[in-house]
Amino acid sequence: MNNISPTLAIHGGAWAIAHTTVDDHKKALDAALKTGWEILNSGGSAIDCVEKTINSMEDSGVFDAGKGCVLNEKGEVEMDALVMKGDLSAGAVAALQDFPNPISVARRVMEKTPHVMLVGEGAFEFAKKQGFKSMHIRELVSDREFHSWKNNHEMHFGTVGAVALDAKGNLAQGTSTGGTRGKMTGRVGDSPIIGAGGYCDDETGGASATGQGEAFMKIMGCKTACDFLKTKNSAQKAAEKTISLLEKRTNGKGGIILLSKTGDIGIAFNTARMARGYARDGKIVVEV
Ligand code: ASP
Repeated sequence: MNNISPTLAIHGGAWAIAHTTVDDHKKALDAALKTGWEILNSGGSAIDCVEKTINSMEDSGVFDAGKGCVLNEKGEVEMDALVMKGDLSAGAVAALQDFPNPISVARRVMEKTPHVMLVGEGAFEFAKKQGFKSMHIRELVSDREFHSWKNNHEMHFGTVGAVALDAKGNLAQGTSTGGTRGKMTGRVGDSPIIGAGGYCDDETGGASATGQGEAFMKIMGCKTACDFLKTKNSAQKAAEKTISLLEKRTNGKGGIILLSKTGDIGIAFNTARMARGYARDGKIVVEV
């Protein structure tokens, strides 16, 4: 394919992001986009770009992912993550405890097992065998989150996601989250579910969602957004139609990023804010 502009779109959650945390969100998005853009710009693959971009957001402690992840009803970590490539290969983990980079474990599921998803103890054992280092929960999770969990704070932090198109025309997407604060033990949201929290198909596009997972699961949000691209909608129109459908059918709240196979970007949300950004032609744009 000729004339492809490598493109990266990311999000860091769509909720009522507190004003006091907007600057931290912007800095962390900017750093993640720089990491990802360097890979795309030097001819790297969409999947490498997605993994490293999300690692940067997981390590920042700013979002509900990796070191910033929220805690469940028992004060434990249960993380969900999905990676998917445009050739439909995919890997996911759900209710994974105590690893700082679940997106990398999900990629390993995709590349090293005959399966698509591993959960709980099985995911934990697999991650250990693959050489990932588990961390004690007190070391892994930020003080901010322990404090918020203990005091039942309403402050929201969001899931992270990235969709990339590389110079060869390959698409990949990734989504990583701690889920929702105080969730029931064993609850799995939309993020690791193919079609719900993430989707990717070289024939249409790639998407990553954030917000109320139960709502996105019901409308298969990311597959729906990609399907809207089949009927000549722009990526922006397709993203907007998905969020309208989310609201109309489930009364749900959230946001979505969508990248078409030609690099057209769509971003839509029905929450007070969405942490989002993109990189293309060396230009980096961040908004919260
Ligand atoms: N969608 C995620 C979940 O429901 C939460 C989020 O996006 O912040 O687990």
